[in-house]
Amino acid sequence: MKTTIRVESIHSFFNDYVNKHTRLREFAEQYCEAMEVRAEAEREADSQSASFKEVQRECMRTSYTNFSAPTQISENKVEYLVDDRVWCMNRQTRKEFVTKYKRVYRVVYNTSTKLAECECKLFHSIGIMCRYLIKLYDDMLGMFEILEAYIVRKWRRDVQRKYTRVMVAYHDHLKNRASETF
Ligand SMILES: [Zn+2]
Repeated sequence: MKTTIRVESIHSFFNDYVNKHTRLREFAEQYCEAMEVRAEAEREADSQSASFKEVQRECMRTSYTNFSAPTQISENKVEYLVDDRVWCMNRQTRKEFVTKYKRVYRVVYNTSTKLAECECKLFHSIGIMCRYLIKLYDDMLGMFEILEAYIVRKWRRDVQRKYTRVMVAYHDHLKNRASETF
């Protein structure tokens, strides 16, 4: 961002909080309050946009997947073989594109616990349901509610996280005594 644009952006941001009649002491207080508001908004936006894009990508790619008929492999386990196209990334544009190549993933669904294990391990690595699990629950099983087990703690808004209490260095300790212990 160019310096002039950044300065204008900072001015417009602080215009909501201070004006030429604001006294210095009030300014300091309002500055802290303004920074808190901004930090909170940025944190929300960062986590939402990153996770939202991942989920959106997985949803879009379900259309390239094909599920086999289910095979009963034990009393309460059913196996599906899913073929999918291989995606590659263009080195220059950094954009992914679909190829004609295919690979097969194994998905095992437990009919007692209603949970599934997928060979691609995307959920275990980043905490987001992969396209195979999305298609399994949505298409194959027709379940409309996402199981609690697939909503990991880091994506939940109703969980207060420790790092949100230490990241804001300009946070007024008197307002939040819990932050003093970190
Ligand atoms: Zn998977």
